[in-house]
Amino acid sequence: MSNASWAERGNKAFIGTYSRFPAMMTKGKGCLLWDADGNEYLDFLSGIAVCSLGHCHPVVTKAITEQAQTLVHVSNLFHTQSQIELAELLTDNTFADRVFMSNSGAEANEAAIKLARLYSGEGRYEIITLSGSFHGRTLATLAATGQPKFHEGFEPIPAGFVHAEFGDPQKVEQLITDKTCAIFCEPLQGEGGVRPLDENYLQALRSLCDAHDLLLIFDEIQTGMGRTGTLFAYQQTGVVPDIMTSAKALGNGLPIGAMLTTGHIAKAFGAGTHGSTFGGNPVAAAAAVAVMREMLSDDFLPAVQEKSRYFIKKLEEVAGRFPELATGVRGQGLLLGLVLSENGIEHGAGIVQRMFERGVVINFAGNKVLRFVPPLVVTHEEIDKVMDELVVVLAGLD
Ligand SMILES: *Cc1c(COP(=O)(O)O)cnc(C)c1O
Repeated sequence: MSNASWAERGNKAFIGTYSRFPAMMTKGKGCLLWDADGNEYLDFLSGIAVCSLGHCHPVVTKAITEQAQTLVHVSNLFHTQSQIELAELLTDNTFADRVFMSNSGAEANEAAIKLARLYSGEGRYEIITLSGSFHGRTLATLAATGQPKFHEGFEPIPAGFVHAEFGDPQKVEQLITDKTCAIFCEPLQGEGGVRPLDENYLQALRSLCDAHDLLLIFDEIQTGMGRTGTLFAYQQTGVVPDIMTSAKALGNGLPIGAMLTTGHIAKAFGAGTHGSTFGGNPVAAAAAVAVMREMLSDDFLPAVQEKSRYFIKKLEEVAGRFPELATGVRGQGLLLGLVLSENGIEHGAGIVQRMFERGVVINFAGNKVLRFVPPLVVTHEEIDKVMDELVVVLAGLD
């Protein structure tokens, strides 16, 4: 059966929340994907920053297979080995002493929001987030998300979130009241258009939290797990959060999220205060253990940094060649954006479509930026190929 007939079946049976590419993907290996018509794609989106070790990485597949043959699920009424190993890997390699596991990013953020409120005590529940942020699709994480378009039609939006204008710490300070309990942000806004927060800004947020006795929460769901060249993005800044969330690449495709914090703050969550039936499921946790071990091996993260420099240089060359379409490059590690000019933005969706037709998967983030999120195992040759295709597509526009 062809892509077209699969798409027709899918569109009939599904609620229309997704605008999908017109392809039924059948197989993946490394940075490559294949569809039902036999087309091959270079996947520079990685399932939205998830398959960071590439599709079907052998160590992950082995871990999943072995765990699936041993024990799939028992709930969090019991201890399980892969979950404990994962918790230790996360705490040994971050600021955190304690972990709560969930199935998704939004749920990890929900846990962070609940913990911040419980820890801060009665009357202190308000959380300051940033305009342009993205924190998830559940009602509370939607309320945290600083993009009004995601709120429309879902009112009443849960109370307790205020959004500060991006880029000036004073705008955050002005929103602090007796009710504030936390400042919550992504170290680099992914969905909002690959916008990094600079180190001085993050440092200023840390100082505000210290001065006003607030918690600093970093959403590293997209920036974490090697994506920016260190295990977590905060590790390049010297700014340490009180709570951090991870998901997306944590399981390389198996659904798992984590909320991490210090031993002191964790004490606010006693037995029965929060929970999840599936969170940290043995199979998903086994995948995440394999991912962590691979990423923590000696050469992995330095190689990401090296490929990042190479990719940035290539993207800058493209931006230089098409100044009427692109104004520059931003991002960190292998979370990179080609920033489009006003003229370029009109073509944004079309560029993504034409790249797809030429066998390259990318997307258009925040309606401003062509986002490149390849698997971290990408090669220079694969980067070159994608840049060649981009040049052909951009040259075809004018
Ligand atoms: C994707 C994402 C989320 C939501 O994660 P889900 O797994 O889709 O719930 C939250 N925050 C950030 C920064 C993200 O990129």
